[in-house]
Formats: sequence, structure tokens, C-alpha cells
Amino acid sequence: MKYVKYGKCTCCGREYPAVPDLTNCQCGGILDIIYDYDGIRKAFTKDTLRERPDRSMWRYRELLPIEENTPPTPLRVGWSPLYEEPRLADMLDLKRLWVKDDGQNPTASLKDRASAMAVVKAREAGAKVIACSSTGNAASSLAGNAAAAGLETYIFVPSRAPKGKVAQLMTFGATVISVQGSYEETFALSKAAIEKWGWYNRNAAINPYLSEGKKTVAFEIMEQLDWQVPDYIAISVGDGCTIAGLWKGLKDLHAIGFIDRLPRLISAQAAGCCPLNRAIETGEPWKPMEENTLADSIAVGVPRNAHKALAAIRESNGLTVNVSDQEIMAAQGLLGRTCGVFGEPAGVTGTAGVKKLCEQGLLGREDTVVSVVTGNGLKDVANAIKACGEPITIPSDMDRLLEAFAERGVPVS
Ligand SMILES: *Cc1c(COP(=O)(O)O)cnc(C)c1O
Ligand SMILES: [Zn+2]
Repeated sequence: MKYVKYGKCTCCGREYPAVPDLTNCQCGGILDIIYDYDGIRKAFTKDTLRERPDRSMWRYRELLPIEENTPPTPLRVGWSPLYEEPRLADMLDLKRLWVKDDGQNPTASLKDRASAMAVVKAREAGAKVIACSSTGNAASSLAGNAAAAGLETYIFVPSRAPKGKVAQLMTFGATVISVQGSYEETFALSKAAIEKWGWYNRNAAINPYLSEGKKTVAFEIMEQLDWQVPDYIAISVGDGCTIAGLWKGLKDLHAIGFIDRLPRLISAQAAGCCPLNRAIETGEPWKPMEENTLADSIAVGVPRNAHKALAAIRESNGLTVNVSDQEIMAAQGLLGRTCGVFGEPAGVTGTAGVKKLCEQGLLGREDTVVSVVTGNGLKDVANAIKACGEPITIPSDMDRLLEAFAERGVPVS
């Protein structure tokens, strides 16, 4: 890894050689991967990038912690579309708004970026088995990316995980343990099992390479915007790895001179589970909260990456916003109707947050905003139906159709 210097503890500053199975610092702190930006600046330019045919997260190799000869993972991860949404911008009274649809990754969430990185690092470590605990998407993305690479997976999910995600796991051939308990309890069992059997660890926050995969979402947003920095980037937050990765990617681009300023982050959490935002809002250390929201992917009462996430929000002079389940469901419908983008509840929480900040007058017609949709709605159809309703159900009969239209006031001409 030509441009990786070492892993550095975000708590005590201790440095570690960047071996493939790097985990936490001995003080318990989470590591950050440190790069030789001067070296990268010389070898990697916007022109080099423009000529690169690779349309996946691996097109940013110089900024990633992988060996030069490591092959990319088999599934196409990354390079999801960034749509400008002028009609939604008008409705919200924003200057410009873009939606980054990361539900279009191979297993339908942003987590594919981290899991593809886990597969690469597991291969470099010579591991044959990878394990993780997850609210659902880290699991399904790991199972899919590992299956494509011929690796075995052991997956721990809380029993509340939506059926779509569990179906993905079973289809990808993972050994799935559905834990009757909270995400916190699920995490604890996976940790004990990983220690017992020595599997490669894809647990969020423990493996410092995972955020390095997630940061590619920032690279893509900026490249797709032709390096014109938006005022804000909104994203949903659970463990905090995603927002920390997003921020790392932006700082990387700033450090190598690809962008001349940094956007402000918008950290969106569910009102029923917002320990990180509450810490920012009160100025106090974060405290555990109940996991009280239908947005299962961000129902994280004990965030695993609090330190990096809080630092990212603070450094970016970011905004926090907490949305109710009602507001999340409304955002599902809004994105669907106006953009044709189908997000799972946690996937649209960032957009729900943007809408709420507009209503509160904290965002307005001077502002340009990117909202990241982090997961696809097909993963959780039960909640989508709850949010957007049931169809007109009748026999095959024209009279009944006319009746039904009249009853519901459907305009037909
Ligand atoms: C995991 C996930 C998030 C949040 O990422 P964290 O790293 O846990 O903060 C948001 N949305 C979706 C769909 C996710 O799967
Ligand atoms: Zn340390």
C-alpha cells in the first residue's frame, strides 16, 4: 500500500502498522487510516481519474487502503447515480438539491462499499471466513460480496431485521444467527464468537478499513458534481461509521486539492433513537438510548463509532435533525412520488431531515444540498406499504372500477 502510512488511534494517538486484520487500539479506541497525501497529489490528478474506465468504488485506488496488486471485488460496488431534483428543490424551497441513490448498489445499500472493502482485506489477510453482526444491511452486503468472492460468512442479526434482508442473507448462502435481543446484544454475541473461532471481523467501527470503503460515496458525489462543493450533505446516522466515512472522503479530497472547501454535514437520526445527535445538541457525552424506531438500520442505541461521528459533525460545523417515524414515512412517499426513488426507512431519513430543516427555516433558497439515500425500499416492503398505503382492490369488473374511482375521488378524464 504505497500511500498508506499507518493506522492511528483516534483516542490516544498510538500508531499501528496497517496490516490487513487491523482492529482497535489497545486502549479500546478506534483507528483511523493515515495517508501520504503529498505522494498521492503527485500521482493522482483529476485528469488521471477522468480517463479511468472503471465505474466502481475502486476507481479511487490511490486513496484506498488496498495493495497495488489486489484485484477488485467481483460485484460492481459504487458509482451509484446522483440525480438533480429540481422539482423537489422547488417544493422545499432550496436553491439546488441532488439525491445520491446508493440503494442501487449490488445488495441495495451503501453498506456494499464497506463490505467490498472487508472482502478485499480478508483476502489480503488470507482469511476464508468473515463474520459480522448487523442491523441487516452490513450483513446482507457482506454475505453477497463474500459469496461472489468465494468466502464463507457467519452473520448475526437481531430478530427484528426485516424479511427482505434476511431473504438476501439466506439466498447468499450465509450461516445466519437471528438473535432474540437488541442490536447491542447481537453485537456482543458476534464479538464472543469471532474471538472464539478467529474469523475475519467485519464489525463496524472495530475494523478501521470499513469507513475507508464508505468514504468512496464522498468521492463519487464530488466527481459527479464536477468538484463543485455543495453547501450541505445529508445522511442518516446509526453507528456513525457512514457519516464518519463521508467526512473522511471529503477531507481526503480537500487534502489533495481536488476541492477547495468542505461542505457542512447534516446528521439525521430517528427521534426515537438519536444518541449521537442528542450529544451534539446538549454538549454532553453521548448516552445509550432505546432502539425505538421503524428505521431498523439506524436503530442503534449504543453507537459503535460515536467518537469519529461526533468529530465529523463538529468539524464540519454540521447540523443535527431528529425525525419521527411519521416524518420518515412521509419522506418515503415524497421521494417516491417526486423522484422515483424507493428508499427503505433509514434510507430516506436524511431526506426527511432535509425537509424538516427547510420547514424550520434552517435551510432555504440560498442553499445547495445533496441528500444520500442509503438503502433500497424493497428490503422492507411492509413498512413501505404502511407508509404509502394499499392499492384499490376489486374484482375484474368495470362497474366496480367506476365505483371505486368515485368513492376515492380518483380524477379520470
Ligand atoms: C447502516 C446504515 C445507515 C447508517 O450507517 P451507520 O454507519 O450505522 O451510521 C444508514 N442507512 C442505512 C440504509 C444503513 O444500512
Ligand atoms: Zn488508543
